[in-house]
Amino acid sequence: MTTLQETKPTKEMLNAKEYVNNVFELVKQRNSNENEFHQAVKEIFDSLVPVFAKKPIYMEHGILERMVEPERMITFRVPWVDDNGKVHVNRGFRVQFNSAIGPYKGGLRFHPSVNASIIKFLGFEQIFKNSLTGQPIGGGKGGSDFDPKGKSDNEIMRFTQSFMTELSKHIGPDTDVPAGDIGVGAREIGYMFGQYKRLRGAYEAGVLTGKGVGYGGSLGRTEATGYGTVYFVQEMLKDKGDSFEGKTVVISGSGNVSTYAIEKATELGAKVVACSDSSGYIYDKNGINLDTVKRLKEVERKRISEYVNEHTEAEFVEGCGGIWSIPCDIALPCATQNEIEIADAKLLVANGVKAIGEGANMPSTLEAIDLFLENNVLFGPAKAANAGGVAVSALEMAQNSARLNWTFAEVDEKLQEIMKDIYRNSVNAAEEYGHPGNLVIGANIAGFVKVADAMITQGVI
Ligand code: GLU
Repeated sequence: MTTLQETKPTKEMLNAKEYVNNVFELVKQRNSNENEFHQAVKEIFDSLVPVFAKKPIYMEHGILERMVEPERMITFRVPWVDDNGKVHVNRGFRVQFNSAIGPYKGGLRFHPSVNASIIKFLGFEQIFKNSLTGQPIGGGKGGSDFDPKGKSDNEIMRFTQSFMTELSKHIGPDTDVPAGDIGVGAREIGYMFGQYKRLRGAYEAGVLTGKGVGYGGSLGRTEATGYGTVYFVQEMLKDKGDSFEGKTVVISGSGNVSTYAIEKATELGAKVVACSDSSGYIYDKNGINLDTVKRLKEVERKRISEYVNEHTEAEFVEGCGGIWSIPCDIALPCATQNEIEIADAKLLVANGVKAIGEGANMPSTLEAIDLFLENNVLFGPAKAANAGGVAVSALEMAQNSARLNWTFAEVDEKLQEIMKDIYRNSVNAAEEYGHPGNLVIGANIAGFVKVADAMITQGVI
């Protein structure tokens, strides 16, 4: 990353750089063609050079070599029968990446693009994100290349039951706790929990998070990722004496993260003028009507283009990438990986964007991140900015273990505290290691150190 060039190349720095480069070469050799995984590893590795220069003990203990190799990676067949009696076979995955600080924890993604590279990039990032939350949770991720779009409820149920029949052999409240991600929401978690319970013959509430509030779920979990992203950006703005009040905001996506980011940003006085789905984006200069988006997406499961039938002043534009050409003060990418490429970043900067908060996982390419940092755009990286979701998942686990439920206000207050702590810890780590204000480096280091120290204490395993 460009930011590292500012650091004086001491002998320790050069050693650290060589170590990082060597391990990265190994990662590329061992995991050929896994571009998303390489990208996630590269971002972390570049950030960690100043840590290895200062604390060579991490190199001596082979921390990076161990961290990049999942403790376990499971791939399995998921056969299911559609409503017409036709047999389909999808591929299921679960990567159990790192359990140094707690049971593996991370969502399940159902999307046709899912493959080993996507699951590994997500699982790898989850290690550091989960550590940043301050909760005792390790890193994992899973999913399938199943496409939920256009499937009936019964097809979704049969698929998720088949998926869980195999996954159930590998998870448990103290070993591995999945949750949702793209394509996996309350409906899918409900079916999966039912199947797990039936197979186990026991009510292990803490085996999944994101459950309905009527059967062990936590109030505030649905809102947590979107709200958390806005709380994080609020902290970045506050440090500059600024706020969401009166700001124009563009938020990509229209799923769970995007929806609740729109809700909270609007509540804080911003005007959210655009959101999107994979077919295109809507622009509503009056501010997005969230009730319409929620009904279209959560209840009717329709395309976002339908919005303009009800709000005739709004426009629909085909192709979701164009959303970044809309001038805004704050951009919250909440759709998917690599949705902000360098050309999009240039447009955002040219149009005067002040802050970016990554609600999705790895939504900006490495080049786009560099451009934002070079132009002093406040940049909240995904591992920090979207950690609110998994943080409240950990609160759900805590409530399940204690067999009690907290109120929405209690959970929301804890979420706000957690997001503030993540911000503060990232700022402090960036400063301590010579990159003040760089939250990419700060968040990566703060997340890494806790896991690395636990790994050293637990021996070479
Ligand atoms: N999928 C979410 C994430 O990327 C949440 C994971 C969880 O709650 O376990 O962090």
